[in-house]
Amino acid sequence: MPHTLDEFNRATPADAERMLGGLYEHTPWIAARAVQARPFRSLAQLKHAMADALDKAGADAQLALIRAHPELAGKAMVARTLTAESTNEQSQAGLTACTPDEFARIGELNAAYNARFGFPFVLCVRGPRGTGLGRRQTIETFERRLRGHPDFERAENLRQINRIAEIRLADKFGAPPTLGDEVWDWHEKLAQHSDPGFAEAGQLTVTYLTDAHRACAQRISQVMRDAGFDRVHIDAVGNVVGRYDADPAVAQPKTLLTGSHYDTVRNGGKYDGRLGIFVPIACVRELHRAGRRLPYHFEVVGFAEEEGQRYKATFLGSGALVGDFRPEWLEQQDQDGITMRQAMQNAGLCIANIPKLRREPADYLGFIEVHIEQGPVLNELNLPLGIVTSINASVRHVGEYVGQASHAGTTPMNRRRDAACAAAELALFIEQRAAKDGDSVATMGMLAVPSGSINVVPGRCSFSLDLRAPTDAQRDALSNDIVAEARAIAERRGVQCQLTETMRASAAPSAPAWQRRWEAAVESLGLPVFRLPSGAGHDAMKLHEVMPQAMLFVRGENAGISHNPLESTTANDMELAVRAMQHLLDAVAADQHQ
Ligand SMILES: [Zn+2]
Repeated sequence: MPHTLDEFNRATPADAERMLGGLYEHTPWIAARAVQARPFRSLAQLKHAMADALDKAGADAQLALIRAHPELAGKAMVARTLTAESTNEQSQAGLTACTPDEFARIGELNAAYNARFGFPFVLCVRGPRGTGLGRRQTIETFERRLRGHPDFERAENLRQINRIAEIRLADKFGAPPTLGDEVWDWHEKLAQHSDPGFAEAGQLTVTYLTDAHRACAQRISQVMRDAGFDRVHIDAVGNVVGRYDADPAVAQPKTLLTGSHYDTVRNGGKYDGRLGIFVPIACVRELHRAGRRLPYHFEVVGFAEEEGQRYKATFLGSGALVGDFRPEWLEQQDQDGITMRQAMQNAGLCIANIPKLRREPADYLGFIEVHIEQGPVLNELNLPLGIVTSINASVRHVGEYVGQASHAGTTPMNRRRDAACAAAELALFIEQRAAKDGDSVATMGMLAVPSGSINVVPGRCSFSLDLRAPTDAQRDALSNDIVAEARAIAERRGVQCQLTETMRASAAPSAPAWQRRWEAAVESLGLPVFRLPSGAGHDAMKLHEVMPQAMLFVRGENAGISHNPLESTTANDMELAVRAMQHLLDAVAADQHQ
């Protein structure tokens, strides 16, 4: 019989420790510390308490735990001396059925990893869905991490150990993340559709109005219908719009809007955007199953386009809802010469209806969006969820230093006007200046010496600046300081500096009331409330123009990498996102009843 959390909270310390036996390999003190911290409101809170104890235990204790782990598909597995938990996990991942070649390869990797880092490789072989990574993916992950930095590998091993404990805990308490598993599976099915050229290579690319894109729209519509939405349609720009009607007893109900995008970058991840469509669908499915209605309409939109890949029209989907669809976009051509107008006609979209997509802000309560973090912060802090304070303001410049190209051998160091050295000095300045703010970022993503030569002092150096900060004022201060320094460097070095601003976007701070609702939702799960700005742009930025908005971030695995096939999150984290949104929907309902 699985334990219940209530039993665990009320058990004697010795019994409670026994209930957590085997979660951390041969390391009972972690469970013992968690037992001291009872009672817990949720397994997520208990898991976090254990991860926190490990985090605070210091490097020696952490290393001892890493070393307590058996080698993957190693001697202990062959000799059947693994713990029951490890045996079960290694066989679920198919490692007990390795071919002789696979065994040999994993043996080599174990030896190489140990030699390089001085501790064994740890991987949660049950994987992000809990059903097993499979041998190929396990070996690929092993090969990738063998190239990792020692500090990263130590930290990643600890994260994997916490993940292993999370799955073991759910098993012991008979509490698998059922909702998260389903949300995971919806992503997996949707990722079967990919544009030609990428599909064959096993890569995910879904750009605006391709066959794969339209197939995705059909599939999302079907998931919505199956979930119990009252109305589902594909609108004039290809957005999938589902609506779960308000309780009919409520007079003149307003609407709460949520959603995110289903297009992807080229060779992108499966969760960017899509998580923000499937999490609310799961919420509606649960409402529908319970026969419950909210005192407001709940509208979920799968935005057709956010990434600006096929056409240069970023935020086309959400833009249409705020009346920002630019007719000149229709004449843009993709790389095959197909105009957006032709693509839309071909998809059967009615261009004349686009202006009608604009929502009347007075009808809406606000906009909420769930999105994978696309950064390393939550992953490093062992936190599944984070509350977005603001989508960062940004400004971009392109620039060029012009000095004097001259002979690299004959021009003395004190007589040079080296344009590349000026840009290099600026690159280091922006790094320091942004770091001083703590939460600003500055990037010189392009840096080139046009037609440079190995034996010529650079006469020209072109560069770009991408500057972002949580508020417009902070961004402006950052930008002003950097522009001033760019000119001061030019002055000191006797070179010319040209700078052109190419883009400027305002910050989209979260509406305080809605941010607080996400905070309360995260708190209700027993998790720490952690706030962070969003460095990337999101659909919420467009809706921000007309209504209050706030976002919830979900932790990404693999150091939070995104716009990359390694982008991932776990079924458990997805489950927590669904639970957080359910809490928020209920809280909004309670406010409406007052
Ligand atoms: Zn996105």
